[in-house]
Amino acid sequence: MKKLRVATGHLQGCFGCHMAILDLDEDLLSLLDSIDIVRSPINDVKSVPKVDLGILDGALCNTSNVAVAREFRKKAGKILAFGTCAAFGGINGLRNLFSLDDVLQRAYVETESTVRGKVPSSPDIPAMLPHVRAVHQEIAVDYELPGCPPTPKMIRSVLKDIIGGKKPVIPQKNLCHECNRKHQEMYVPKREFVTNAVHAIMELDVIDPDRCFLEQGLICMGPATREGCEARCVKGNVPCRGCMGPTTGALEQGAKMINALASILPAGAMMFMEDVVGVGYRYSLPVSIYPYREEK
Ligand code: SF4
Ligand code: SF4
Ligand code: SF4
Repeated sequence: MKKLRVATGHLQGCFGCHMAILDLDEDLLSLLDSIDIVRSPINDVKSVPKVDLGILDGALCNTSNVAVAREFRKKAGKILAFGTCAAFGGINGLRNLFSLDDVLQRAYVETESTVRGKVPSSPDIPAMLPHVRAVHQEIAVDYELPGCPPTPKMIRSVLKDIIGGKKPVIPQKNLCHECNRKHQEMYVPKREFVTNAVHAIMELDVIDPDRCFLEQGLICMGPATREGCEARCVKGNVPCRGCMGPTTGALEQGAKMINALASILPAGAMMFMEDVVGVGYRYSLPVSIYPYREEK
């Protein structure tokens, strides 16, 4: 069988998505029977050869990221936006709340440990983009696999589909569908809120490991987040923070969450007690309609 030629590229992110490929462990060896990875940040080939599949992780934050993404689009038959940074902008996108000048000042001049700081400037340094963007906001993308990072099971399944010539199917429903916690109360129509209190996780002495976080007054992004991660945080008694991004068809993750909360918690209390952007838009601000700050 002819092997699929694959190139991988890293844009802006923590590199965790590339590390997640290594998490395939011995499955990586059998995968290599079907694919040839001819370019990756690990083998440090700078140019992009012609390939069947280009896998890009990370968001677009500077002009070099844009050039790499465009080069991949020219050379690759199909493009997979790999991970939440590539699909939605990810954590990087939170900088869209600030002007680029403010971000650079903060990073290079104002940090408490900086003495006589200066914003670096040279034609050799790629210029930062005014706002962080997801990959599909710059080039056409054929497939998206969200996750911060995607689980090995999802990576295996998506690559298997692509190798087999099929369009990969990623989960469509929200995380509550794959969460085993009891969450009946929030579906019962009634006048009262399910809980009147909204807590930070460290405020509670005991968190019931079997009951829905929302029904205990803890913000969990499950209703507005795509399933597929096997509810890995929730199983560890930590509420979901939404890293799989919005479900298919949701206009935006934060608004969907506020809508979902309206009948469960006093939404106003949630908005004052919690960081609305940091919770609702932590991973998907660049693809949301939440307004970003204009340059001065
Ligand atoms: S999606 Fe998450 S794991 Fe992947 S590069 Fe971005 S921050 Fe890192
Ligand atoms: S809100 Fe969170 S804890 Fe509740 S059912 Fe959904 S994923 Fe599970
Ligand atoms: S539970 Fe939520 S935050 Fe945790 S991995 Fe899944 S989608 Fe991401």
